[in-house]
Amino acid sequence: MTDRIDGEAVAADVRADLQSAVDSVADRGHRPTLATVLMSPDPASETYVSMKQRDCEELGIDTRDVELDLDEPAEALFDVIEELNRDDDVDGILVQSPVPDHVDYREVLERIDPEKDVDGFHPENVGRLVAGYPRYKPCTPHGIQKLLDATDVDTEGKEAVIVGRSRIVGKPMANLFIQKAPGGNATTTVCHSRTEDLAAKTRRADILVAAAGIPEFIDGSMLSPGVVVIDVGINRVDADTEKGYELVGDVDFESAAGKASAITPVPGGVGPMTRAMLLYNTVKATGRQADIEVELP
Ligand code: NAD
Repeated sequence: MTDRIDGEAVAADVRADLQSAVDSVADRGHRPTLATVLMSPDPASETYVSMKQRDCEELGIDTRDVELDLDEPAEALFDVIEELNRDDDVDGILVQSPVPDHVDYREVLERIDPEKDVDGFHPENVGRLVAGYPRYKPCTPHGIQKLLDATDVDTEGKEAVIVGRSRIVGKPMANLFIQKAPGGNATTTVCHSRTEDLAAKTRRADILVAAAGIPEFIDGSMLSPGVVVIDVGINRVDADTEKGYELVGDVDFESAAGKASAITPVPGGVGPMTRAMLLYNTVKATGRQADIEVELP
């Protein structure tokens, strides 16, 4: 029997646990606040930001909404970040990616105060993660760790295979899996666009994390029986639906489910966990800023 991993349910549990942390901070007169900054040429970014703001509001986290026109100079964005860095009422800062071509995203990340970097993308936070004492774990791989834990999948000693080496998913996932810590201790392989004979690597997996952004390209023939499949991909493909498209993962669900002991659906798997872990990092940032010990799930 294949277990269909319910990311919505696990994310709801994380949010419920975070609620008491938000309430305890509020009892001490501090309202957690996340600032979102939108200067993105991708039309989907606006939806992502409003979803993140709605998630915050449902939990009692205040949001600060900053929007910049796409033709504004990079300095305008840097000034906004500087202002938010200095603002004691702002606990977390999130600059939605992508940013316009004339803005150097790397510089954006470097300018965010690492204490307020709730995405965990500032080089200092990346360095801490690699060194083994993370401050803010990036939301998607952290959410995957929580999902595995909630599904009673022990990573220790397992073969973990990650398909994708991006800054936001593949690399931090690998760093979490190799840590000598709960949710780590896995023997980890990272595959990418130059990997030869991908199927030979994916068949080694006890735990497979697919994050290449290619619709349904990993199928059951590339998997070994009993594998736990975590499908990160969110791909729009043309479909005969009201919207004219549907969302599919990087994994061909039907054939993979025939091999897997557990598998995440798309949508409803990793996506809700990514959103929940942003709330987690925001609450953690609030505790650090307000010097209040918060109990995190
Ligand atoms: P990316 O484009 O930055 O990285 C894709 C990676 O896949 C690259 O490292 C590349 O080397 C690798 N790759 C490309 N072709 C490959 C191949 N043929 N074989 C093996 N590896 C190959 O993507 P990303 O930002 O990491 O996102 C990946 C997917 O995950 C996208 O569909 C994205 O929408 C989705 N995503 C979902 C969530 C979520 O919360 N569910 C979060 C982030 C990203």
